[in-house]
Amino acid sequence: MSRLIVVSNRVPLPDEHGSAPAGGVAIALKAALKQKKGFWMGWSGKVKSEAAPAALIPREIDGISYQLVDLSQKDLDEYYHGFANRVLWPIFHGRPDLAEYTEARRSGYYHVNQMFAGLLKSLLREDDVIWVNDYHLIPLAEELRQAGVRNRIGFFLHIPWPPADILSTVPMYATLLCGLSAYDLVGFHTDYDLSNFNECLEREQQGETVEQRSRAVDENKSRCAVFPISIDTANFESLAEQAARGERLQKAYPRIAGYDIAIGVDRLDYSKGIEKRIGAFGAFLRRYCQRVDKTLLLQITPKSRGVIPAYLAIQKEIAELVGRVNGEFGTIDWVPVHYIHKPVRHSELAGLYRKARIGLVTPLRDGMNLVAKEYVAAQDPLDPGVLILSRFCGAAREMKSAMQVNPYDTEEMARTIEEALIMRLEDRIERWNAMMTTLRTHDVHHWCDEFLRSLNES
Ligand code: UDP
Repeated sequence: MSRLIVVSNRVPLPDEHGSAPAGGVAIALKAALKQKKGFWMGWSGKVKSEAAPAALIPREIDGISYQLVDLSQKDLDEYYHGFANRVLWPIFHGRPDLAEYTEARRSGYYHVNQMFAGLLKSLLREDDVIWVNDYHLIPLAEELRQAGVRNRIGFFLHIPWPPADILSTVPMYATLLCGLSAYDLVGFHTDYDLSNFNECLEREQQGETVEQRSRAVDENKSRCAVFPISIDTANFESLAEQAARGERLQKAYPRIAGYDIAIGVDRLDYSKGIEKRIGAFGAFLRRYCQRVDKTLLLQITPKSRGVIPAYLAIQKEIAELVGRVNGEFGTIDWVPVHYIHKPVRHSELAGLYRKARIGLVTPLRDGMNLVAKEYVAAQDPLDPGVLILSRFCGAAREMKSAMQVNPYDTEEMARTIEEALIMRLEDRIERWNAMMTTLRTHDVHHWCDEFLRSLNES
C-alpha cells in the first residue's frame, strides 16, 4: 500500500496540556495517516534563527508520524503573515482593497515553498501519495516537479477560489495559476469555486476545460473537482448530547436560562461579517421591541492574526459596536450581546450550540464554514434550533434548508431572526432532518476518502 504524505502550513500537534486540536479535518486526516502509515509535514509553530539551516524534526505522537520544520522570523513575516495572509487571504475572500503586496512577500512565499519541497523530497519513496493543503502551499507541487519528483500529488483549497477579475489583482497571479497544473488533482469546496477556477484558466488561456479536467499549458492534465469538506458528524452529535448535560454548562446555564439565544462562533476575521451581524441584531431589537430583555446574542470570537492591521481594525470596530448595541438596549440586569473574545473548547461549544435557538452563521465570504454544520449536528432532534446562513459561504451550496440570508441586508437579517424565533416545531424538524441526512452521509471521513480515491485515480 502506498504511504500518504499530508503537507500543510501548520501541523495539528497536541497543546501544552496534551490535548489534540478537536477539528474534524485533523481527525479525518490522522485516521487516514494511521491507516496508510505516512507522515504529516508542516511548520512546527517555532521560530528558528536566520542562520540555522532548514531541517526536518521528526516526532511520533499517538501513532502518527510528523515531520516538523521551524521557520525564521523573516520567513514568517514574508511567507505566512505576508504573502499568505496579507495578499492571498484577502483577495481570495473578495477583499483586494485589503491586500498589501510586496516583492519581498512574494519571494518569501516562494522561498518557503521551495524549502518545503527540498526537505520533503529527501524523505519520499517512489509510490508515496502526497496531499498538499491550502493557499500557503500553492506552488509546492511545481517546486517538487522541478526537483524531479514524479509522485502523485493532490491539492485541496480550504478557502474560496475568486472570480477572474478579483484573482487578477494579485500581481503575478498567472504564475500562481500555472503552478496548480503541476498537481494531479486540485480540489475545491463548491461548484462555484471550480467554475471560477476554470474561468481563470480560460481567461489566461492556460487551459481548456474538458468536462472536469482542465488542461494546462504544458500539456499536463490536472483533474479538478469538488469535495465539500464536513465535520465528524456522529462524534459531534454525541459530544453535544453529553455537553448539554455536562456539569460546567449546567452551572453556567442558569445565568442565560430563560433567554432565547442566538449564537455566533467565528475566529476574528473581516470575512466573517461579525460587525454586520451585530448591527442586524441591534436592528432586530429596535424593530421587534417585544424581544428586548428576552433575546440575547452569544458571540464567541477568539483572536486571530493579531499582527495584521486589518485584524486590529476589525477587532476595534466589533468591540465598539458591541458597546453601542449594549448601551442602547441593555438594562441593569440584561445585556443583549455577550461577546467572548477568547477560544471556547469544542466540548463546551457543542453544548452551547444545542442550547441556542438560532445559529447565526453570516460570513461575507467563506470557503465552507464548519460552524454551520456543527450547529446543526448539535441540535436536539425533538426540538431543533434554526440555522440562519449567509448565501456567501460554501455551506450554503449544500444546506438548502437553512434560512439563507444576504449578510449585507440588515433588514432582511433582522426579519429572519424573528421568523426563526416564531417558526413552528414541525418546520424546524423538517429543515433539520433535511440537513442532517446530508451531514450524516457526507461527513469529514467521506470527504477524505473521496479526495484520496479521486487522487489515486488521477
Ligand atoms: N472553534 C472552536 N472554538 C472557538 C471558535 C471556533 O473550537 O472558540 C472551531 C469551530 O468549532 C470550528 C472551527 O473552529 O470547528 C472554525 O471553522 P470554520 O470553518 O467555521 O472557520 P475558519 O476559522 O476555519 O475560517
